[in-house]
Amino acid sequence: MRAAWLAEFLLPAFWVALAVLLWLIFGGVLGWWIALALVATGLRHIIQMHRLESWLRNGRRSQPPQSWGVWGEVFEHYYRMQRRYAKRKKRLARVIREFRESTGAMPDGTIVLDADRRISWFNSAAVRLLGLAGNRDIGQPVTSLVRTPAFERFMRDGDFSRPVEIDSPMDLGGRLSIRVVPYGRGQYLMLIRDVTRLQRLENMRRDFVANASHELRSPLTVLGGYLESMSEDEEIPEIWASPMDEMQSQCRRMTTLVNDLLELSRLETDAPGEPDEQPVEVAEVVRRVRNEALAQSGGERTIEADLDESLGLAGVENELYSAFSNLVFNAVRYTEPGGRIRIRWRREPDGSARFCVADDGIGIDAKHLPFITQRFYRVDPSRSRSQGGTGLGLAIVKHVLQRHDSRLRIHSEAGEGSEFCCVFPASRLRSLKTVA
Ligand code: ADP
Repeated sequence: MRAAWLAEFLLPAFWVALAVLLWLIFGGVLGWWIALALVATGLRHIIQMHRLESWLRNGRRSQPPQSWGVWGEVFEHYYRMQRRYAKRKKRLARVIREFRESTGAMPDGTIVLDADRRISWFNSAAVRLLGLAGNRDIGQPVTSLVRTPAFERFMRDGDFSRPVEIDSPMDLGGRLSIRVVPYGRGQYLMLIRDVTRLQRLENMRRDFVANASHELRSPLTVLGGYLESMSEDEEIPEIWASPMDEMQSQCRRMTTLVNDLLELSRLETDAPGEPDEQPVEVAEVVRRVRNEALAQSGGERTIEADLDESLGLAGVENELYSAFSNLVFNAVRYTEPGGRIRIRWRREPDGSARFCVADDGIGIDAKHLPFITQRFYRVDPSRSRSQGGTGLGLAIVKHVLQRHDSRLRIHSEAGEGSEFCCVFPASRLRSLKTVA
C-alpha cells in the first residue's frame, strides 16, 4: 500500500520535473508548463474514475480494470470484496433453500408472517391442514384465512406464551394446535400441529374415569348401606366389630375418592359455568366452610377468619365452595392439634382480591411445590390417606380457579407452615349491597 501511495506522489513530481526540463529546453512561462503537468495528473484520475464507473455500471461481472498506484489497489480491493460478498450470498441462499426444503418436508404446518401478520411463506403441510391456496394467499392477513373466533382472539390478545387450539377447517371433528413464535424484526413463525389423535385419547381417558367412577358409585352405596345396618345389628358377634369399622372407613374413603374423581372430570369436561345470577357472597361461603372444618378438627385447632363482608365474586358458588373447603380442610389435615389457621378474604391494592388460607402446620419442602397440584401427588401418601385425603384436592382447586380466570399462589416451608392464596382478577369482583 505504501508503495502505491509513493508511486501516486512520485507521478505528479515526475510531471513537474518534466515540465521544468521542457521549460529549460523550450523556454516560455514556467507556470504554464507546471499547469500542464498538473492537468496531466488530473486527467489520469478522471480516466481511472471513468474506468471504475463503467466497470460498476456493467454489472461488475467482468474482471476489474488493471491499473497501478492507488487506483490499482482500489480496483483490487473492490474486486476481492465483491467475491467475498458473492460467496456469502451463495452460502445464504443455500441455507435458505435447505431451511425451506426441511420445513417443507415437515408434517407440521409452518407459516412465516410479516410484522403486519400477513403471510410471507408457508409449507405444504400448512396447505393440507388449513386449506391455504398456493401463491394467492401470500400477502393475505392470516386472520382472514384462519377464521375462527378463538384464533382471532388469540392473535388480537398477542399472548403467544401458550398455543391455541381450534377446530380443523379441513377435517370435521379434527383439532389443530397453533403456536406463534415471534422472531427477527417483528416477524412471526406460526406452527400448526394436528392434535386430533391426542385430543381423542384425552377424551377417552376422561370418559373412562368418569364412567368408571359413576359405575362404582352404586355398588359403594349398597355396600355402605349394608355395612351401616350390620354395624348396628346386635346379633353380629363382638369379634366382628373392629373389622366392620375398618370396612366402613374404607368404604367411606372409596366414596370420597369416587366423588372427587367425578367432580374433577366434570370440571375438566364441562364448559366453564356461567356465573350465578347473584354474585357469590364469599364471606358467607367461607363461614360455612369454617364451621365444617371446626367440626372436622374436633375443636383442636383455632380457625380465625378475616373477611370483607361487602366483597362478592362473579362465579359458581358450589365450585368456589369446593375449592375453598379443599384448602381449609388441607390446612386442618396438615396442622397438628393446637395449631392456628387463618383465613383471609380481602381486596388487594392492585385491584385484585385474595382468598388465603395460612397455617402453622407441617409445611411443604420447596422441591414438591411444582408438582403439588397434580392428581394423586402427595408429599407423604400415608399421612394423607390416614387423614382421609384423596390426593385430588388441589387438582380440583386448580381447575375451579382456571374456570374463574384466577390463579393459585403457594408459599410454604417445611416445618414452618403454608399459605395457599387464590388470586381473583378485578373483573370478577362485585360489591355486595347488604353489609353484615
Ligand atoms: P390430599 O388429599 O392428599 O390432601 P391434595 O391435592 O389436597 O391431596 O394435596 C396434595 C398434597 O399437598 C398433600 O398430600 C400434602 O402433602 C400437600 N399439602 C396440601 N395442603 C397442605 C398444607 N396446608 N400443608 C402441608 N401440606 C399440604
